[in-house]
Amino acid sequence: MIIHSDWHIHSEHSYDAANPLELIATRGTEQGLRFVGVTDHANFNDIKFMGDLRASVAGVTEMQKKYPFMVLGVELTPIEVPEFEYIKANGGSREGYEAPVQSEPFGIELAATKKELMELGVRYAIGAAHWRVDVPKSARNPFDFDATVREWYRQQLWLAQDERVTILGHPWYIGNSAWYEDFSVIPHGMNMDIAAALKENGKYVECNSHFFFAEKATEKFRHQYAEYLRWMFEMGIPVTYGSDSHGNYGDGRPRVEQYLAAAGFKDGDVSELAEKDLW
Ligand SMILES: [Zn+2]
Ligand SMILES: [Zn+2]
Repeated sequence: MIIHSDWHIHSEHSYDAANPLELIATRGTEQGLRFVGVTDHANFNDIKFMGDLRASVAGVTEMQKKYPFMVLGVELTPIEVPEFEYIKANGGSREGYEAPVQSEPFGIELAATKKELMELGVRYAIGAAHWRVDVPKSARNPFDFDATVREWYRQQLWLAQDERVTILGHPWYIGNSAWYEDFSVIPHGMNMDIAAALKENGKYVECNSHFFFAEKATEKFRHQYAEYLRWMFEMGIPVTYGSDSHGNYGDGRPRVEQYLAAAGFKDGDVSELAEKDLW
């Protein structure tokens, strides 16, 4: 066994997930996990997502009385600064937002400050890129490979340096299949920069089960991806595991462990979040 805890699980309090907290707790117990980290989505600083986050906090806090191995986290995603500011000025609503036209890429924000998250009792954050935020939605071409790589690089490098981010979530995850055939199309220099920033800022990097289950990912890609994680591990960046489950929470570890073992991971190489790194 290589993986002993799961730091990335979505409960029914995420807009796109359905796991009851009780199910996460009982299945996690059956799997013998040392920790289960609940990280519901807080995508925007609007009333809807902040309400979801408060519901997640209340639910997990209640569940912890019975299941102390449950840890309260959050998943944050880069959003564009003009939208963040618009929501703030518009009473917490995204309604009516129109992205401005500008030549520079938009700045990046996250839905909440570290202080706000800590006041809610959140103990760590996964920061993860999910969509481009450099240009308005209407100008994003998901099949523009170079622009997508550049933007993923920008967001991940930014996340690796932000004080709110504990774990860089699913590095190079993408909804379409841009690089799921051959991971070596990602320039090595970009990975060097991201790894250097993670290391310098004391961040963790995530091994996300998605890459090993997604049908669009080739076998070759999966092995390359496990080797990429191993490369970061050997650079001194701790690797955490995240199932990123959104429903019917089960045990995906045996399959992921096969790929990790082939890349050289041994028992104990996949980390838990150290107490000193929890807020
Ligand atoms: Zn995610
Ligand atoms: Zn997630």
